[in-house]
Amino acid sequence: MPDSADQMPPGQPPNLRNIDPERIVRQLAAAGVEALYVHAKDNQGNCYYDTQVGHKHSGIGERDLLREFAAASRLHGLAILFYVQLTRDRRGHAEPSYAARNADGQPVIIHPALGRPFNPTLEQAPVMCLAGGGRDYILAIVRELAAGYDTDGFWLDCFGWWGQTVCYCLVCQARYQADHGAEIPPPSVRSGDIWLRYFAWRRRLNTLCLHEIERAIRSVRSSLSVTHNNGAIFAYEDWAMSELDDYVTNECQNQDGFAALGLLCRRNWAVKGEAPFEIELWRFNSKMMGISREYQLRPLAQLQAEMAIVTANGGFVQYYDQIRPDGTLDERSVARMRDAFAIIPPMLPGRVLPAQGWRRCRYASLLWSKTNDVVRAGSKLGRVEDPELEGFATALAESGVLYDLITDRELAGHAPLPMEVIVLPNVETISAREAERLRGFVAAGGGLVATYRTSLGETEDGPLLRFALADLFGADYLEPVSYLYSYQKFAAAEEHPLLDGLPRDWPISSWDRLQLKVALHEGVDGLGRIVLPMRGMHMGYPAQEATEYPPVVCRNYRKGRVVYMASPLGEIYGRYGHDDTRRQIANAVRWAAQGAGPVEIDGPPTIEAVLWQAGDGVHWLHLVNTAGAGPLRARMTAMHAVLPVQGVRVRWRGPLARAQRHPCGTPIPFERSAEGAILALPAIEIHLLLELVPADSTRETT
Ligand SMILES: [Zn+2]
Repeated sequence: MPDSADQMPPGQPPNLRNIDPERIVRQLAAAGVEALYVHAKDNQGNCYYDTQVGHKHSGIGERDLLREFAAASRLHGLAILFYVQLTRDRRGHAEPSYAARNADGQPVIIHPALGRPFNPTLEQAPVMCLAGGGRDYILAIVRELAAGYDTDGFWLDCFGWWGQTVCYCLVCQARYQADHGAEIPPPSVRSGDIWLRYFAWRRRLNTLCLHEIERAIRSVRSSLSVTHNNGAIFAYEDWAMSELDDYVTNECQNQDGFAALGLLCRRNWAVKGEAPFEIELWRFNSKMMGISREYQLRPLAQLQAEMAIVTANGGFVQYYDQIRPDGTLDERSVARMRDAFAIIPPMLPGRVLPAQGWRRCRYASLLWSKTNDVVRAGSKLGRVEDPELEGFATALAESGVLYDLITDRELAGHAPLPMEVIVLPNVETISAREAERLRGFVAAGGGLVATYRTSLGETEDGPLLRFALADLFGADYLEPVSYLYSYQKFAAAEEHPLLDGLPRDWPISSWDRLQLKVALHEGVDGLGRIVLPMRGMHMGYPAQEATEYPPVVCRNYRKGRVVYMASPLGEIYGRYGHDDTRRQIANAVRWAAQGAGPVEIDGPPTIEAVLWQAGDGVHWLHLVNTAGAGPLRARMTAMHAVLPVQGVRVRWRGPLARAQRHPCGTPIPFERSAEGAILALPAIEIHLLLELVPADSTRETT
């Protein structure tokens, strides 16, 4: 909240004039809130307590809001955590040595004023550097808060405003000179060895800065929880940066689509395994159709579907709201939040979070590689697009196939790999250690699916120009085809489970990416032919001549199976959504796994499925229906009503004793099949939770 004394035009009434923390906490407790995050130091650079080091908001006078919020939270049985803004601070440049600096020495401002006079507010976001005095300022803030207040923990925001800024302040320059004997690369150098050396140095600096702040909090009181927003997903973070976090948190504010939210949950889960994670959901429509954070409420169905996806994945939900200028809550928003929260309790059997003693059933795990994030990030330290991984995940979700993520850290580690298939979605750089683990995984019976330029990337020895995994693929890289529009075509005579349901003698499109020609090793089979387009004709781009090169290679490797696909099918599916592409992706995973997953969903492509196994062998299947907003990949829309889906069936693998709906206990009818059982579900509105008792579970046998 801006301080009307010095951050607003003259003539405005003082902000926060009617604030009543006890009333706010009472309203929140009645609406189902279990923990309150309250701003201690915000992005306006204002503090809401008796600080010795920061700027106290003048609208609250002599009051100490944090003390009042803490006391009220204890009174009403809420946990309370403090929000501290790290690097985006409207007062952050008041002390010149705190400012992050551009290469020309000017302070870094992320949103310089655009000069639109009728816009009520032009957000400027001065960025603070945490390498020097700015960090000491933040350390002083968190120390006085941790020592002086009855709080449960800290939520640290916006490390990334500085974390992704190449900072040329004097401190950063001197530090880089000391460490590397060189200058920070100028803006014209954003690739190559010099840039990558800075990139590596900078990620280490980021981790050191965050960890010092987190350790400062814990050194005051070790029981305080800590986390930082946007854990692990940006290129400026290495895996180590999340190590001191008690839980990983990320925000979903942009109506990115339900598939993106499901993937974000799995990213969070992949970073810290069975630890719980948090997703921040916004009360606002944010960045929808070009509007930034309008004063609105998301529709109830939208919020409930988002909350159900987070909870099904083992996460917990944060509802982000703001108070009105006078300091009171917006009661319409509180009521909306209360109604949205109502979807969560029935999803938690016995009020036990899935993370406690449960484990996620892993079937197809997609590799999320930080090494490749750096390659893909190129000149940026910020957000990394991974269209192949994203599209592959969407295709599996829309096919009713269970998926999750495996990090390159987990793959390179020593723990057993419990999934049935590992997918390498255009993962260009594969380390020797990763290749060794993958060979062992497949040799022992695991499945491997790899697409496009996987393992073709540069190593320390320079560009490979051959697959590092050629022995697994059973093929060698030759060159790309010469057309951005080409096809895969499978003949009517070809019989293979990878082709189930695919059209024959029909050109399946591969648009805007050059398919790769490969040469098969002896005894290895290829499927289909890459087909080139007719030249000189653009309408419909008709296919013309077949090449000798297969778009798909599949083989047995010891006890396991490998599928290599020569085009980026995930990216193509994410962009164009062709049904044939989706089927090809799901077929590849099932064939490599030597069978379907522990469950598969036969229903519309709007269902998110997550399967958990409890300690007693009982399985819990969450199904979240998002029909009403279009398919999972729909973006930039808000769902106003959910459309119940009928006739959904679940294929269960193995002997099943009983199945019932939770929490009502209604039995679910099923018929036995060769693989196990096929369950016929009642209509699904937003969420359905099934308790599946296998015949061999301890609950059934004791
Ligand atoms: Zn700096």
